[in-house]
Amino acid sequence: MIYNDIDFDTYFKNYPDKNGYFGKYGGSYVSPELQAAMDEITEAYFTICKSSKFISELRRIRKEFQGRPTPISHLERLSGSIGNVQLYVKREDLNHSGAHKLNHCMGEALLAKYMGKTKVIAETGAGQHGVALATAAAYFGLKCDIYMGAVDIKKQAPNVARMKILGANVIEVTEGLQTLKEAVDAAFEAYSKEYKDAIYCIGSVLGPHPFPVMVRDFQSVVGIEAREQFIGMTGELPDAIVACVGGGSNAAGFFSGFLNDPVDIYGIEPLGRGPKLGDHAASLKYGTEGIMHGFNSIMLKDDQGNPAPVYSCASGLDYPSSGPEHAFLHDLGRVKYDVVGDDDAIDAFYALSRMEGIIPAIESSHAVAYGIKLAKELGRGSVLINLSGRGDKDMDYVIEKYGMR
Ligand SMILES: *Cc1c(COP(=O)(O)O)cnc(C)c1O
Repeated sequence: MIYNDIDFDTYFKNYPDKNGYFGKYGGSYVSPELQAAMDEITEAYFTICKSSKFISELRRIRKEFQGRPTPISHLERLSGSIGNVQLYVKREDLNHSGAHKLNHCMGEALLAKYMGKTKVIAETGAGQHGVALATAAAYFGLKCDIYMGAVDIKKQAPNVARMKILGANVIEVTEGLQTLKEAVDAAFEAYSKEYKDAIYCIGSVLGPHPFPVMVRDFQSVVGIEAREQFIGMTGELPDAIVACVGGGSNAAGFFSGFLNDPVDIYGIEPLGRGPKLGDHAASLKYGTEGIMHGFNSIMLKDDQGNPAPVYSCASGLDYPSSGPEHAFLHDLGRVKYDVVGDDDAIDAFYALSRMEGIIPAIESSHAVAYGIKLAKELGRGSVLINLSGRGDKDMDYVIEKYGMR
């Protein structure tokens, strides 16, 4: 399929290019020491991960440990309450550890093992990526250092406990605002000293090349399964697909299965409390081109051009940029990016729980809210939503902040 001069038959061969660019976005903007480490990972990824041994081991792990393939569920009651459109969800909430993040963490940790590394290093904000990586590290017997801001450590006690139970070393970062940005800086700093024995495992399709392409490829299992399952269930492709976009990993993997199909694709960013800078994290909608955390993309900036403070009720979505591939697909128009605010996400959280018996993560609830809105507008056909994770982690917060309905 040709779309705006880009041939999607050959898209995965041509994007990113060998330097990690999706058009003008992506690349690698890091210090020379870190670049040496990135080159090592790039070389290893494009040789080891294409070997049949690696692929079959990862396939076995996905089946026997992660519980893949995850099913697609038809939302019969919710669809019936809307009209004639059929809504479906791809159940990444049923992936072991409760979200899609394990898809790339198992890939990254298996790569670490093949490279002879003994440790994985990462940052975490809300703790979801830290928990997924700690799970993978325990499985492979790797050491695991997770850098986390002191403020986040206080806020996310259950995830800190999970990481520690899984054997990870949670390192408190006390610089600056003591949240995600400082944790990223501290983790990169540690990695530049330890890269002989360790590999850095990024939590989304972000960071310098090769992470955006590598994480996308590890997540592509979601899109490949979903396409085949949906056709198996209905005999045709969905009319539209929807996923939430924080950094963009669940969306990138899910979308990759449908880019070359006549399917409308929607990426949903968090509008939080509204369109004022600081009240949302909708970087593709309101941001401009810039470089942060080692890559060029579209980002939200403050007056000085630094990454702006962002907000969403979904902590997994509050990042001031999105992966370079999303910036590329945004400019191209192949994916339509739109926004959903806190209140609509919470309504969808309750709707899915009450009408289908599925408690979604509040990140995923943004995609569900948009899927419902789209279904009302379309009036016919089918919409497939990626349910990136389960909402157990969010229940206390939702009840405290929004009340039981
Ligand atoms: C982390 C997280 C997200 C956001 O990350 P992406 O890289 O944008 O996918 C979405 N949903 C859940 C459940 C998460 O844990």
